[in-house]
Amino acid sequence: MSEEGMAGTGKGGLRPDLVVAGAGGGLAGALRAAELGLRVLVVEASPHYAHGNNTAMSTAMVPGAGSRWQTEAGIDDSPEIFLADVLAKTKGMADRAVSHALTEVGARLVTWLADYVGLPMELATDIPYPGHTNFRCHTVPGRSGAKMLAGLIAKADADPRIDILAPARLVDAQPADDGLAAVIEFPDGSRETVDCGALLLATNGYGANREMVERYIPEIAGATYHGSAESRGDALRIGLGLGAQADCLDAYQGHAALAVPYATLLGWATMMHGGILVNNEGRRFGNESRGYSEYAAEVLAQPGGTAIAVIDDYIFEKCRPFDDFRATVEAGALKWAESVEELADLFGLDAAKLAATMADARASSEEGKADAFGRSWWPHTLSGRLAGVRVTGALFHTQGGLRVDEHAAVLRQDGTRVGHLYASGGAAVGMSGHGASGYLAGNGLLPALGLAFLAAEDAARLARSAS
Ligand SMILES: Cc1cc2nc3c(=O)[nH]c(=O)nc-3n(C[C@H](O)[C@H](O)[C@H](O)COP(=O)(O)OP(=O)(O)OC[C@H]3O[C@@H](n4cnc5c(N)ncnc54)[C@H](O)[C@@H]3O)c2cc1C
Repeated sequence: MSEEGMAGTGKGGLRPDLVVAGAGGGLAGALRAAELGLRVLVVEASPHYAHGNNTAMSTAMVPGAGSRWQTEAGIDDSPEIFLADVLAKTKGMADRAVSHALTEVGARLVTWLADYVGLPMELATDIPYPGHTNFRCHTVPGRSGAKMLAGLIAKADADPRIDILAPARLVDAQPADDGLAAVIEFPDGSRETVDCGALLLATNGYGANREMVERYIPEIAGATYHGSAESRGDALRIGLGLGAQADCLDAYQGHAALAVPYATLLGWATMMHGGILVNNEGRRFGNESRGYSEYAAEVLAQPGGTAIAVIDDYIFEKCRPFDDFRATVEAGALKWAESVEELADLFGLDAAKLAATMADARASSEEGKADAFGRSWWPHTLSGRLAGVRVTGALFHTQGGLRVDEHAAVLRQDGTRVGHLYASGGAAVGMSGHGASGYLAGNGLLPALGLAFLAAEDAARLARSAS
């Protein structure tokens, strides 16, 4: 919906109970709030949000522990096991309240996405993501964030309690009687102030703000940024201006398998099904099963800042369910070779060194024991014809942000709430601790959808108790 016909205050000119800034994961908050009877105004900065934001760009993996899909698949999982995985991956540095709340809500969230939003959710049981004890990532066919977001948008468009105002940017927020005043700017520079009961900052982090990335995460500042152009740090600026505390600002999700120069996602399923990464000298340089986020910096540290992912026909077939993988193939990034020598030739590598690397990897896989890099995950031994894809390490999104409680309410340093203000997704502190290595698959979308969902429930509860 465009701004035309809008008084800026929701359908029928009524004051919105909740303003949601950002139509990515924030739409889960808008929908849940409307389901609970609130009037919602969504303000979205980009006219291209349906394809341009991070939720749309994602592989749509949402973890939920103890879901009905897991029960049907005979998987015995629980929020406690999931929380233990989060704490192990983050070395205990993840925000406890947020991690606890999100590991608890995950199963309820994916069930709601299926039953209320109508998304065709399924459990991904073909790809074991590093750090997850169990198969618990739920997704949609094609593993496409754009398809997931399309379902959320369609449901919101059909809801008489929700207005989506786009393009319109939240530029400021101020305290107001019984709520907040959201200052919204339109593309022509005009501004409107909207009084609302509560405000959810769902505008993502600051990945597109080069100056902030250099300040908070210098180790990844030189990497390709592969995320929403609108992740400019607006939530952080607005929240801090209202007295909030921020935490874990050095946390980020990197990815070690962005195809160059195509800027498409090869995906880590390639490695988890038995592929390897070699550098421009034809050598492996680490344990690929450790995690794609932290591996981004390791790829960037190699000569030329790139590496070659090596897979075979078996892995190719295993990765076909991913839209991103197929797009990478269609872009022409993947080159087949009948022999190791031909593969070396295609990528300008030393054939003898690559042959030695391949022999070592195959031996480790066949022996099934940890190699020199500590990799013991070898579900398949590379064989037959081989394919290579040149990849680089990329920054996908920042993970730290405004400190929130278990209801996604934004907190001050003293632990009290910044009244009526909530944050979700890249705008909030998240569950990845510090740096890149705390990222578990799903740590992006679960805080995006889950914190928005929890914020909506809290805002509805407070609205009920105030009336
Ligand atoms: C290629 C890729 C694959 C990924 N795969 C996964 C995955 O499988 N699982 C997972 O958990 N995570 C994944 N992630 C991470 C995940 O996509 C993000 O963590 C998550 O989508 C962030 O959601 P969000 O709502 O915070 O931000 P977004 O989805 O980016 O939404 C924020 C919205 O706010 C708008 N906006 C910005 N500023 C303003 C403003 N001032 N006013 C109004 N609107 C504004 C933006 O235009 C945007 O539409 C992936 C990321 C990438 C790039």
